[in-house]
Amino acid sequence: MTAALPDLVAASRAAIADLFARHDRVFLAFSGGKDSMTILHLCEPYRDRLTLVWVNTGLSGDRMTAFVRSFGDRFDLIELAPERPVEEQWREHGIPAVVLPLDHIEGVDFRSPRLQPWLSCCGANRVRPLHALLEAQAGPCAVLNGQRQQDQGGTPAGLSGVLPATVEVSLPIWDWTDADVLAFVEQEGIPMHPHFAVSPSSPECLRCPAIGSREKMNLLDRHYPADAVFVRQAGRYALGLAAARAMELDAILAEPTTQSRA
Ligand code: SF4
Repeated sequence: MTAALPDLVAASRAAIADLFARHDRVFLAFSGGKDSMTILHLCEPYRDRLTLVWVNTGLSGDRMTAFVRSFGDRFDLIELAPERPVEEQWREHGIPAVVLPLDHIEGVDFRSPRLQPWLSCCGANRVRPLHALLEAQAGPCAVLNGQRQQDQGGTPAGLSGVLPATVEVSLPIWDWTDADVLAFVEQEGIPMHPHFAVSPSSPECLRCPAIGSREKMNLLDRHYPADAVFVRQAGRYALGLAAARAMELDAILAEPTTQSRA
């Protein structure tokens, strides 16, 4: 925790107050993770004017799904879904992967099977449903997002860029560290999701073969063994294709030069 937590909290509260002063319609991109829970807590004074939006990919597991849905008792909660089941999208575009040979990407298609960059999968299955909802709003609106600078994920400009121009994107905890969030959660007694003790980071898409982390694997091994098997198999399959291509290229590079052969 930084010593400046009270200042960070005050700045976030002020940013949220300003947003609600300027917008009639404010959404929170809600996952049930610690960051969106922190923002939800900060938005408590505006509870009646806030709408939570959760994109249910169908890959979050029963307990996490029940946890997120339980907020519908106190808040306006919109549950969105991808255009079609994620596994069906994978069948056409390939399973998502972090490391993949370009020859296997759709549009290149030099080799099969297809793999897709995880960003494409997230774009189709998580961002697009949110985009469609926001685009359908009659007038300007705002969306709160728990992205933080420390995550080194999306930037404010990048997040604004993928949403309609009529949508103001607000990242009220952008400057908070992990330690700040955890300290605030403890200080305020904010309830955490059911898998927090084993896997405190993002609880979404547990069955994702691309965005693996040791803690997520531990969680799958403990509570979702069938999904753990799937994630290992699919993840290794994609890695195997990448490794095979890398070895093939390495072998070419290792061949003696024409000059040395002569
Ligand atoms: S987290 Fe994984 S499975 Fe979920 S949308 Fe993103 S890439 Fe696809």
